[in-house]
Amino acid sequence: MKITDIKATTVTVPIEAPLRHAAGCHWGRFVRTIVEVETDEGITGLGEMGGGGESAESAFRAMKGYLVGHDPANLEEMRFKIANPTASLYNNRTQILAALEFACLDILGKKWNVPVYDILGGKLQDQVPFASYLFFRYPNPNDGSGEVRTVDQLVAHAKELKSKHGFTSHKLKGGVFHPEYELQCYRALAEALGTDTQSGDSFRFDPNASWSTEQAIWFGQQIEDIRNDYFEDPVFGLHAMRRTREKVRMPLATNTVVVNFEQLAANVLNTAVDVILLDTTFWGGIRPCVKAAGVCETFQLGVAVHSSGELGIQLATMLHLGAVIPNLTFAADAHYHHLTDDIIEGGRMRYDGGKIKVPNGPGLGVALNRDKVAEYNELYKRLGGYPYDKDPLRPDWTPVVPNTRWADPNDERRPEIPY
Ligand SMILES: [Mg+2]
Repeated sequence: MKITDIKATTVTVPIEAPLRHAAGCHWGRFVRTIVEVETDEGITGLGEMGGGGESAESAFRAMKGYLVGHDPANLEEMRFKIANPTASLYNNRTQILAALEFACLDILGKKWNVPVYDILGGKLQDQVPFASYLFFRYPNPNDGSGEVRTVDQLVAHAKELKSKHGFTSHKLKGGVFHPEYELQCYRALAEALGTDTQSGDSFRFDPNASWSTEQAIWFGQQIEDIRNDYFEDPVFGLHAMRRTREKVRMPLATNTVVVNFEQLAANVLNTAVDVILLDTTFWGGIRPCVKAAGVCETFQLGVAVHSSGELGIQLATMLHLGAVIPNLTFAADAHYHHLTDDIIEGGRMRYDGGKIKVPNGPGLGVALNRDKVAEYNELYKRLGGYPYDKDPLRPDWTPVVPNTRWADPNDERRPEIPY
C-alpha cells in the first residue's frame, strides 16, 4: 500500500466560553487542522493537530514531497523521514509526525479490519476515565454565559459537570490569578465536592509552570491535606520541580518538562517528577506514548494523559492509548466537555460515569461528518486564527516565568472577540 495524497482542512469549533490559562486564553473556540491521508487502495486515514490557534494546513501539504509513495505500515521509517532527531532541530515536526501517525494507524486498522488498540497490543479496558477539567472562563462573548471567575461560580460549574458527566477527579487550571486567590478556589472546590473521607473524589491543580519555586512550595504545603492526585507543573524546569518535590508531600506531575525520551531519561536518572502526562501530539504519536508508558512502568513512574484541546479524532487517539497501557492509574485530562460540537459522525462522544467508551470500529473508529467539517471550515475562514498565548483583555501583558502579573479576580469585563 502506498500513500497517494495528504489533505488538510482547518476547522474552528466553538467552546462554551473562553478558557483562561497561565499564558493566555482559548478565545472561545479551538482551531484544529484535520488531516486525511489517502492511499492507492482507496483507504483514507484521519489525523488531527492543534497549533496554538493557527492553521497547520501548509505544514501538512509540505509533507507530500516526503510521503507520497510511502507505505503507511512503515511507521518508524516515516519518523526518520520527516522527524529525524537532528534534522528536526530545524523544523520541529514532532506534532506533524503525530497527526500523520494517527492517520497511518487508522489506515492500517481499516485495512486489517481491527481497531487501533489491537495493533498496539490489545485493550485492557473498555472505557477510559476522565477528570473534569475546570478552567477560569471569561463570559461567553455573545450572551455572557459560562463565566468562571468567583469561588461560587467555580464550585457551581464543578458540581454541574460532575452531575452531568459523572467525574470523580477534578482538575483546576490555575496560574491566572494570584496564588492566594487560587488557593481559596482550590480549597473551596475540594470542600464542596468532598475529600476521600466523603465522596472519594480527588483533585489536581495545574498553574502551567508559572510560579517561582518558593511560591510553588508555599502553595503545595497549603494543600497537603486535600486528596491530591498530583500537583502539576507548579514550576518550569526539572531542577525547579526537583526542589519543589523535596519540600511538598504529594506527587508532582508534568506535561511540560518531560515531553520526550531524553527528558524522560533525565528524570529517571535524577527524579524530579512522579507522574508523566503523556500526550499523543507532544510525543509524536500514540506509539511513542505506549513506549514511554513502558519506560514509566519499568521505573515505576506514574502515567496520566494530557489534553491539548482535542476534537473527536485526537480524542480517539487518547482513548486507544488509554485502553492499551496497563499503568494508566489516573483519570485522563480532556478539554472535550467544553466543546459545543464535534466534526465526527454521531456528534460528540458521551461521558458515562466520567468515562468515555473506547471506539471499537476499524482503525481509530471515528469518521468525519462532512457537513460539520464544511460548516466549521467556513467558520474558520470567517473568524481566522487566534493567539492562544495572549489574553484578549490584557493586550500588553506578557506571560513571563515566573509570573507575578496576575489577572484581577474582580475584573468583570466580557471580552469583545469574534465568536
Ligand atoms: Mg498541564
